[in-house]
Amino acid sequence: MPNYDYDIGVIGGGAGGLTVTAGAAQLGAKTLLVEKENELGGDCLHFGCVPSKTLIKSAHVYHLMKNSRKFGLPAMDPPRVDFREISKRIRSVIATIQLHDSEERFCKLGAQVEFGQPTFADEHSIRLNGNIYSAKAWVIATGSSASVPPIKGLAETPHITNKEIFYLDRLPESMVILGGGPIGSEISQAFNRLGTRVSLVDMAPRILGQEDPDMADLVRDVLSSEGVRFYLNSAIEEIKDLGSEKEVRLKTKEGNSISLRAQTILVAVGRAPNTKGLGLEDIGVAYNQRGVEVDNRLRTSHKHIYAAGDVNGGYQFTHAAGYEGGIVISNAIFRLPRKVDYTFLPWCTYTDPPLGSIGMNESRAGKAGIDYTVWTEEFKDNDRSLAEGGSIGRIKMILNEKEKPIGVQILGPNAGDLLAEWVAVLNGNVKLSTLAAAVHPYPTIAEINKKVAGTFFSPKIFSSKIQKGLKFFFHLKGRACPDDVCSE
Ligand SMILES: Cc1cc2nc3c(=O)[nH]c(=O)nc-3n(C[C@H](O)[C@H](O)[C@H](O)COP(=O)(O)OP(=O)(O)OC[C@H]3O[C@@H](n4cnc5c(N)ncnc54)[C@H](O)[C@@H]3O)c2cc1C
Repeated sequence: MPNYDYDIGVIGGGAGGLTVTAGAAQLGAKTLLVEKENELGGDCLHFGCVPSKTLIKSAHVYHLMKNSRKFGLPAMDPPRVDFREISKRIRSVIATIQLHDSEERFCKLGAQVEFGQPTFADEHSIRLNGNIYSAKAWVIATGSSASVPPIKGLAETPHITNKEIFYLDRLPESMVILGGGPIGSEISQAFNRLGTRVSLVDMAPRILGQEDPDMADLVRDVLSSEGVRFYLNSAIEEIKDLGSEKEVRLKTKEGNSISLRAQTILVAVGRAPNTKGLGLEDIGVAYNQRGVEVDNRLRTSHKHIYAAGDVNGGYQFTHAAGYEGGIVISNAIFRLPRKVDYTFLPWCTYTDPPLGSIGMNESRAGKAGIDYTVWTEEFKDNDRSLAEGGSIGRIKMILNEKEKPIGVQILGPNAGDLLAEWVAVLNGNVKLSTLAAAVHPYPTIAEINKKVAGTFFSPKIFSSKIQKGLKFFFHLKGRACPDDVCSE
């Protein structure tokens, strides 16, 4: 049997790679982690989730300051934002989290960390900084980068992506955002709230194309009402560098030409897998534009080489990368043939209000040919939501033909956190009646979860048939208030 230097080698120190490294090392596998940047943590920590959510919080507070009168407070006219201060806060939050993702921590767990850009020398070895490292199993967890589309003039015109947006040294006066996915939508609201004039362009007829149209349109309405200008159904014809400004020329679906000018262009039209330079073609690991091809155990075309996280072109979330890291550990370390199952993978877009999703929505259920019903509850009927100043949004619960919950969509305050209860309900096969009967603390936004479950039972419990039965058996006397009083 060949003698390899390591039991497992991991390429990429982000959410996926770090999960595998921590798990494998703690289980006693001799583990090598290779990261091309100087620090661990990946896109999520440095250019993704953490900076974006920190920015969103600053923008939210500034928005509240400007809207203080809505809360019965004196009117405020806060001074202009100094973006360097926001960047400073972002860096400080990252620095705190970085301690958890440090080389020292992983070394203490038992893994060896090397920095540099490796290339596969053969199916079991990489070349790195002039050395060869071999491992029995490998994990490619190199993530993804903003994909820059071949739009005429874009390459020649200065533009930014998620790598630069959180580290600007001043707040742009104006910004055109290309792409109305989660990243474009979150950033558009945050910068608009901070005082940038934001225009968002997308070829699609609506933003957040993965979501049900009614929910996505509500998000767009909120953003529009705050001042974000949308150019949907619009193809970009050309981008030009005019010096201090850039021009984006569009053609709408109706054939109208529009010219937008802005100081900054943010490209957020999707993600491309980080496969370059790894030498995958030389060792026969198959990949395409979407990512490294994997089976349902995350094995590539070489069964001992796995691909986890954004690089495999699947769900592009930190928790998906972490989950996939766990699948790799089962297969590569425990040798248990565990397959991925994304049925109840939740996600959330952190606009205000945020839009969260788990399982089936109407669009996906429809496409899957499921005979579903939808049960809704509005946030305007949630006491805590009103007290907090939020009345927009709703929760939608999707039941299948057997009246079993198969998905939940939430547009409203704390949507991401509200999903947690549904994570337990759906994964734990908890009965809807259990959720509807469980006492929730009052007043909480989470009461909406219980309420929506209750909407399914109330028509049955309070039906005229049940009333008739109770009247018959227990001689109940019926209505106390005459009908004509409430019909007035
Ligand atoms: C603006 C933004 C906001 C986001 N917000 C959220 C959110 O709120 N919630 C959420 O769940 N997800 C969010 N995401 C997505 C999330 O960041 C990714 O899904 C997650 O980082 C994927 O983890 P990963 O391990 O696959 O890749 P990464 O975290 O990117 O890690 C890959 C690592 O591999 C390294 N690497 C790349 N190439 C090589 C190479 N050749 N050799 C060695 N190392 C290499 C990289 O430097 C990096 O450290 C956001 C993304 C962006 C861009």
